[in-house]
Amino acid sequence: MGQGGWAAHFIEPLATADPALARLLADQRRQNDETVNLVASESYCCRAALEAEASSLVNKNASGYPPRRSVGGGEILDAVERLAIARARTLFQAEHANIQALSSTIANIAVLRGLLAPGDRILALDTTAGGHGSHGQASHISGQTYRVENFGVDEAAGGIDYAAVADQAARFRPRMIVAGATAYPKMIDFAQLGRIAASVGAMLFADIAHVSGLVAAGLHPNPTPFADAVTTSTHKTLCGPRTGGLILSKAAHGAAIDAALSPGLQAAAGAHIIAARALLFDWVAQPWFAGLMGRVLENARALAEGLAAEELPLYLGGTETHMVVVDLRGTAWTPAALGTRLLEHGIVASTTRLPGRDGAGVGLRLGSTAMTIRGADAALHREIGGLLARLVRGTDDPADAAAGQRLRRIAADCPIPFQGT
Ligand SMILES: *Cc1c(COP(=O)(O)O)cnc(C)c1O
Repeated sequence: MGQGGWAAHFIEPLATADPALARLLADQRRQNDETVNLVASESYCCRAALEAEASSLVNKNASGYPPRRSVGGGEILDAVERLAIARARTLFQAEHANIQALSSTIANIAVLRGLLAPGDRILALDTTAGGHGSHGQASHISGQTYRVENFGVDEAAGGIDYAAVADQAARFRPRMIVAGATAYPKMIDFAQLGRIAASVGAMLFADIAHVSGLVAAGLHPNPTPFADAVTTSTHKTLCGPRTGGLILSKAAHGAAIDAALSPGLQAAAGAHIIAARALLFDWVAQPWFAGLMGRVLENARALAEGLAAEELPLYLGGTETHMVVVDLRGTAWTPAALGTRLLEHGIVASTTRLPGRDGAGVGLRLGSTAMTIRGADAALHREIGGLLARLVRGTDDPADAAAGQRLRRIAADCPIPFQGT
């Protein structure tokens, strides 16, 4: 080791290189281990994906698309990216796939920019009814670039009113209908929305960020064969590592979307993330993954039953996916106060907006993916629903402390299969 003696610094472990950070990471690990995870947008990625992300590709510049990279020595990365693309296309039956987006929000912007001109009209699900901010919310670039109208839900009917969407589309004449949601516990009828789009000459863009694992497992209708474009995250029910968006599209839209993403929005993608995606799109194509997703659905229904048995109202009346949304519009809960109370008693979950006169209605968004991976069965999910209902009621008696103890016991009995550092 000649040089300046710095080689030793390159091989020093985290624990001594940065004890303060190492302690924080250990704290996070402990919190993960000691809490029941009901965050609908979380899951646990596998060891093999983490190995791919921590591989030598973390140092490789991935500018450009194969085989036209601007940085030398990209042939092996080209092979990795082609593998990821081929596997993604097979998994979702897509004519074209782009696996480089740095997040699924970025993927959405790439689709909009690739297929629309500024000022074009889009029709999308209202964010207070479960839609995602990147589908035209005023505070997002999508809402500032296009003319957006929203459709909502018919709460009494338990979902989107497709006849009303058809009427609205006939009046508004959108260039694109955006279908997809971040807090909507029912299945979206993409085929129906595709027919509505076709009837007014609009494109259909389906964002399946939340349900893509169910789609991959064949347990949720797949919009890819007929939609103009489809995007998904990799880390929700698809159970891959975080950061990354997948774009699937008709072959005819491929070049426009690819160019809109890069160079239009981002330069080099993460080569190591591309490697993890190659692994992921094959890993979830195996029969055991369909078995896991089947249990995820069963457990979401059990969780909903446990909550309903304690008379907590459920948004849209229940679940058809991995997600359950508790309707707290009739209560005094604020998102912060509820989050704190749940965490103190051993639950992590997330709050969401629900339709309301002031747009401020609070919902508690829950999912069954994480605890199903950890081995919790339907009976446990039902029990967790009951314990959660008790905590939401907001009293502070010894029964709450007992609920907290039981939840921590469940967390300990359902270990996370693998975590990184
Ligand atoms: C989570 C989510 C996204 C955003 O995913 P990121 O990778 O975090 O950007 C986009 N659309 C929908 C419907 C989502 O639920």
